[in-house]
Amino acid sequence: MTTVAAYAAPAAKAPLERTTIERRPVGEFDVLIDIKFAGICHSDIHQARDGWGEGIFPMVPGHEIAGVVAEVGPGVTKFAVGDRVGVGCMVDSCRECENCRAGLEQYCLQGNTGTYNALDKNGEPTYGGYSSQVVVDENFTVRIPDGLALDVAAPLLCAGITTYSPLRHWNAGPGKKVAVVGMGGLGHMGVKIAHALGAEVTVLSQSLRKKDDGLRLGADHYYATSDETTFKKLRGTFDIILSTVSAPLPLDAYLSLLRTDGALVNVGAPEEPVSLNLFSLLGGRKTLAGSGIGGIRETQEMLDFCAEHGLGAEIELIGASEINEAYERVLDSDVRYRFVIDTATI
Ligand SMILES: [Zn+2]
Ligand SMILES: [Zn+2]
Repeated sequence: MTTVAAYAAPAAKAPLERTTIERRPVGEFDVLIDIKFAGICHSDIHQARDGWGEGIFPMVPGHEIAGVVAEVGPGVTKFAVGDRVGVGCMVDSCRECENCRAGLEQYCLQGNTGTYNALDKNGEPTYGGYSSQVVVDENFTVRIPDGLALDVAAPLLCAGITTYSPLRHWNAGPGKKVAVVGMGGLGHMGVKIAHALGAEVTVLSQSLRKKDDGLRLGADHYYATSDETTFKKLRGTFDIILSTVSAPLPLDAYLSLLRTDGALVNVGAPEEPVSLNLFSLLGGRKTLAGSGIGGIRETQEMLDFCAEHGLGAEIELIGASEINEAYERVLDSDVRYRFVIDTATI
């Protein structure tokens, strides 16, 4: 075991504080990563505050990890010391089920092992990226291409893949009209990636407050959903609507914005169940769908795509002592567009 520095929530809803944790010894197929940067995802806050219940405390959040390989186990073939690498939302899965074999480890039928707030195969709690080092199996480690700076790459490991995977699955590309609902950490990456894929991109945000940013990041159009004429104007417009918000949406209104055969894909997760009128789907053979992160192979594909197109996240770099303040600002939607922790300050 190695003792490493970390920032942890000692109990549900308690402020995060500096502490130390134990990392497992580097096993045959493990890589030891010197973490350089860790993004703050909205779900870190949910979990640290136990919004979904059953949190494991103390909790070290962080599933947007970028760093450099410091040591490799004897069986490791994919990585060498000095490689630039990332770790996202999961660090293991059963590797045998239909989904794992198809490269959809995120949908492992046994449940994937979360990067933090989970128990690994030995029953030990996993600790995330708000930490100076982490030990991860090479099969759940991805390569960060040289063209991507590590700080702007970190948020791609969750926000990037969460938007890339559904955009690819529902064929966003030239000739397709894509709406991105919400201009936050996920939404701003959705805009960049949909634009780079060649789609015509519209942002649907509560207000026009971030319009200039949206257009700069690749949106062709920007509408306020608080303006009722928006829904009339855009009726029957989109092939894909990617909802990145965690507030419950008026689904019938949003489904009315789809073209025939269009899909409304949710990557945000409201805590409460939502309702809809199924006629909203029947009239136009529409799909209401969800999507969760992406598999390891696809995460690598996403990083390569982002490097090729020069896409990183828009970030505010902070020191570890600012994490609690950053959490409050995320809850107030007061970040453009992702906080990233410089883990040298932990
Ligand atoms: Zn996340
Ligand atoms: Zn599996």
